Amino acid sequence: MCPRFQAAYIRGVARLRPCIVVHYHEISLKAGNRPLFLRQLAKNLARATADLAPVRVVQRSGRIVLDLEANEKPEAVRDRIARVSGVANFALAYRVPSTPEAMKAVIARLIDGREFESFRIAARRAFKSYPMTSVELNRELGAFVLERARTRVDLERPALTITVEVMPDETFIYLDRQPGPGGLPVGSSGTVAALLSGGIDSPVAAWRMLKRGCRVVFVHFHSVPYLPATSQAKARALVDRLTEWQYHSRLFLVPFGEIQREVVLSVPPAARVVVYRRLMVRIAEAVAQAQGAMALTTGESLGQVASQTLENISRIDEVAAIPVLRPLIGMDKLEITAEARRLGTFDISIEPDLDCCTLFVPPHPATRLAADAVRAVEARLDVARLVRAGVEGAACEAFDWPMAVTPGVGPPTEGRDAVRAAATGGASAERESRQGRTTGDPSQ
Ligand code: ATP
Ligand code: MG
Repeated sequence: MCPRFQAAYIRGVARLRPCIVVHYHEISLKAGNRPLFLRQLAKNLARATADLAPVRVVQRSGRIVLDLEANEKPEAVRDRIARVSGVANFALAYRVPSTPEAMKAVIARLIDGREFESFRIAARRAFKSYPMTSVELNRELGAFVLERARTRVDLERPALTITVEVMPDETFIYLDRQPGPGGLPVGSSGTVAALLSGGIDSPVAAWRMLKRGCRVVFVHFHSVPYLPATSQAKARALVDRLTEWQYHSRLFLVPFGEIQREVVLSVPPAARVVVYRRLMVRIAEAVAQAQGAMALTTGESLGQVASQTLENISRIDEVAAIPVLRPLIGMDKLEITAEARRLGTFDISIEPDLDCCTLFVPPHPATRLAADAVRAVEARLDVARLVRAGVEGAACEAFDWPMAVTPGVGPPTEGRDAVRAAATGGASAERESRQGRTTGDPSQ
């Protein structure tokens, strides 16, 4: 193409048509269930960007594409994708017809005015019948960049990588690829109930389950009026933050102070923490089962405090009929803290407050309670009544992010597998916004 015609072509034809190209990793390892995982990922991408419409989510071979052609805030959409579990990496890309001329026109738009001392073209063909090989494309587009910019080719450590993904009907071109969180799409691994204190560990544990594709229902035990309501406020703030990963959450606030008062009357101080935990687990399990959750999760890490020895963990698990998952069991406090900072939960967790488990316990609780010793002290309690009191007294609050979705109307998604049906069919009946939290019966 002659230079004058080429310049006109670049100005005229290369209207940038932005989209976001999302790549997944672990999902591609699933054989039979892959369509299900992909539908969930597409649905979550639409939900995470629901307030930034229009975003059209389309499944393409090996990737998911968010069409942003009519969207005024492509960068804002991109920032949301960084927190969608199941995304391996993603990029704000531009779509062009699959001719070298069209590719060059967009590359020119992207690199003009930009300084980069070295670069490489990373061309990939999603189908092999394209008339040029990847190597030929790399050469031709590379030569074009060298004509336009003062730079050099560096295949090993380039300052700029220009990725060109050739699909059967169009090509995606992008400069900066960002890592996603990895993991699996929330909603693809079932539901767990997370015991959420106001501390540093349990929000991180809950997030780890979100990242493995679980939906998380939150259960917080508070001792109002024996302790201030600070812990509830912290639990709400933590759930608010974690809802950015699952778009809709439920928090059950369980009144535990009265239950503790009864425990204090008949259980010796050294055994109280373990007895409290066993009661928490029984109550959380009842909430979990009413919510369709198949496991509990806690922020325990082996040896961190007295209740987290192998013996006491056994005492706690003895009363659980469903698995108690402890995703942080092998992590140390520094690692957990670093993760809490990355998640943005750390600053909420370190707000001063008193956890209900600190109420009426000695500074050095027993670290190795035997099974029969715990059973003996518990025999003095009416455990069934205490559990019922906790379950019946629980208040449920709902959280939505970034916005509540109207029942039956999911965000727009489409693709080979009728993603739209999945997007709307999975919409929960409960649609309160964060601002409009409601309280209710945990069995609902
Ligand atoms: P965290 O930082 O999560 O509070 P921790 O290191 O302080 O953990 P503990 O206080 O022994 O450890 O609590 C162990 C686990 O028990 C917590 O991670 C949480 O899952 C659960 N737990 C403790 N207190 C509460 C509470 N008030 N409400 C709900 N769950 C709780
Ligand atoms: Mg704690």
